[in-house]
Amino acid sequence: MLRCRDIVRHGDAFLSGEMRGWKRAGFWVHLLFCRYCRRYIRQLRTTQAVSISLPPSAAASDAEVDAVLACIAADAVEKDRGRD
Ligand SMILES: [Zn+2]
Repeated sequence: MLRCRDIVRHGDAFLSGEMRGWKRAGFWVHLLFCRYCRRYIRQLRTTQAVSISLPPSAAASDAEVDAVLACIAADAVEKDRGRD
């Protein structure tokens, strides 16, 4: 079974549809049992939807987006460590 850190690392591929087959099925199984990762994926989906809907002038730079995503990922991994 995938671990929470796998969900964080590959959340973008999951949401974009790049992830297929057994890996995607494993993702779904993990999400079925882990409310923390369901919340993470929901937040990631919301973040992506909001960033896409913003006009280009209001959108954050790629570096700003990467910094925010890194903070979210680090927070999720930290919470994952607390549950191991
Ligand atoms: Zn999880």
